[in-house]
Formats: sequence, structure tokens, C-alpha cells
Amino acid sequence: KVQGMSGREEKILVLVRLRPLSEKEIARNEVSDWECINESTILFRNSLQERSGLPTAYSFDRVFRGDCSTREVYEQGTKGIALSVVNGINSSIFAYGQTSSGKTYTMIGITEYTVADIYDYIQRHEERAFVLKFSAMEIYNEHVRDLLSADSTPLRLLDDPEKGTIVEKLTEEVLRDWNHLKQLLSICEAQRQVGETSLNETSSRSHQIIRLTIESSAREFLGKDNSTTLAASVNFVDLAGSERASQALSAGARLKEGCHINRSLLTLGTVIRKLSKGRHGHVNYRDSKLTRILQPCLGGNARTAIICTLSPARSHVEQSRNTLLFASCAK
Ligand code: ADP
Ligand code: MG
Repeated sequence: KVQGMSGREEKILVLVRLRPLSEKEIARNEVSDWECINESTILFRNSLQERSGLPTAYSFDRVFRGDCSTREVYEQGTKGIALSVVNGINSSIFAYGQTSSGKTYTMIGITEYTVADIYDYIQRHEERAFVLKFSAMEIYNEHVRDLLSADSTPLRLLDDPEKGTIVEKLTEEVLRDWNHLKQLLSICEAQRQVGETSLNETSSRSHQIIRLTIESSAREFLGKDNSTTLAASVNFVDLAGSERASQALSAGARLKEGCHINRSLLTLGTVIRKLSKGRHGHVNYRDSKLTRILQPCLGGNARTAIICTLSPARSHVEQSRNTLLFASCAK
């Protein structure tokens, strides 16, 4: 539990989203052993494995069935956290799960709904002047790359006495409108795919952060000495496939890449576990690029949600259980 701005205890919001079986999975006669029995409990139903002694029921803040839309996940899950940005509160929303479980599908939708609601908020608050900025980066092998730039030279992290860790030379675009957002999202996707062909499936091995920063000031004070700007960011973090964490663990430190993915994903796990237990002692943000970049938006006054995405397929059951284990540790 972390202390919220209002002084109340705020824990990390843990959501689970089951995706439907894909057409390909149905075509190869895959079946699902998972069922959401109510709004907070997901059940594993398989008469053979039930006797294995592993847990069969898992409870979280909210679970979303395979037929739930991303809008429902947004409205009933992450909306409150994402929109706290307009009140000057930082936040981070993570998608955690194995490759093909629906992380990117979920995060893109949630990013779009958030921007639409921010625009709506701006329209209803004419007394303030707002600037909405968009930036995007990818962390691969502990290297940070700007997803809005064709230059793939790794970016450096700098320590700013006021702002904390900043990503040097990261492109920040002032969002003009909805079409501009769509355009930037497709540039990011294309940049991620460039990496994918040359580096062999990077998107499953890299972490992507889309950051929206909103700055606002009261119009009546604009340009005057007593004008103050309220600024906050919301981060949408599409994590590397969680199968990399378990692979990296089993392969030990042999593979540099596995080791680095291991570092960002495992450090994130440690940081989140500490935050969820409300340990106010040392949190090891500096151990990985991901947690360093996100530090101002994790813990403290910041709000955090984790969406754990699950494939329903029986052939993925082991990975799904690992994901639920991670989710349970974050509660
Ligand atoms: P990941 O990013 O975790 O690797 P994706 O988001 O790319 O997974 O999803 C894998 C595939 O499943 C994509 O084709 C995506 O469109 C589809 N998909 C994921 N989640 C859902 C969902 N909830 N409903 C329908 N299709 C989904
Ligand atoms: Mg993806």
C-alpha cells in the first residue's frame, strides 16, 4: 500500500483480462480452462489438473471475461487512475502477460480512450489552458530508444535535481488532435516493427512506454508572475512478454539479453511488491532503466494499475498461472 495524495492508503490496482480464443486456436481445437465466475474471481477448471494441488481460484480487484470490450476494461478499471493526470497526479498503467495474451491490444485501446476523455475534460474546463504532450520510447536490452525518431541511437538517462530521471533528447510532440494521436501511434508501431525484423521479434522482448504529459494553468493568471503550471504524466507501459522472465530465470545469466529483460521485468516485480506491501524503506528503482524512467510515476503520490492479460488456451496454462502468480504478488 502506498500513501495517496489525500492521505488515504492506496494500493496498486490489479486487474486481470482474459482474451477470447483466437480463430487459429479454435481451428486447432484448443479449449479454455479459465472462467471468470464473478467480478473479482477467476477460476481454473480442469478435472485433471485440479488434483495437482495448485490453486484453482484467484481473486483480484477486477477480472474481465473474454467477451469484455476494452472500453469496459477502461471504464471499470483504469479510467480513474489515467484521468487523475488532469489533477496533477502522475500514474502508470502496465500490461503484463505472455506474448499473444493481449497486452498491446489492451494498451492501445486504453491509451485512445484516455486521450478522448482528456480532450473532453479540456473542453469542459475553459478556465484553464492545457497543453497535452505525447512521447514514446522502447527499452530493449537496457537500451532506451525514441519511438518517434528514425534515429535508433540509445538515449541517455540524466538525473535532474528537480524532475528526477529524464530521458535526454526524447521527442515530445504537442498533441494537436485525434488524427495526430492516430498518426503518432502508427509511427510507434512501425518503429517497433523495424526492430522486430532486424532483431528477431523485439516487440515480445522489449518494453514500450507511451507517455502523455498534461500541463495546465489558470487562464486569468496566464503570463503573470503568479501563474503556476500544473504538470503530470500518465504512462502506458506495454511490457516485454512475461515468458521472458521465466526463461531468463531458467537460463541463468548466460544470455545477455535474457539477463537484461530479466533485470527490467524482475526489478519492476520487486518494486511493485514493495509498494504493494507499503514498505516505505528503500525501493530499488535504480536497478533497471524501466524503473528509473518510471520512478516519478510509481509509488509516492503516483497511482498504479497493472492489467494482467491471459490467454485462455490450454496449451498456455503454465504461462497463465505464472501471470496470475505475478498478479497475486502485486495485490
Ligand atoms: P501481446 O501484445 O500480448 O503479444 P496482442 O495484443 O498482440 O498480444 O494480441 C495477440 C492477438 O490477439 C492480436 O491479434 C490481437 O488483436 C488479439 N487479441 C488480443 N486480445 C484480444 C481481445 N480481448 N479480444 C479480441 N482479440 C484480442
Ligand atoms: Mg505486443
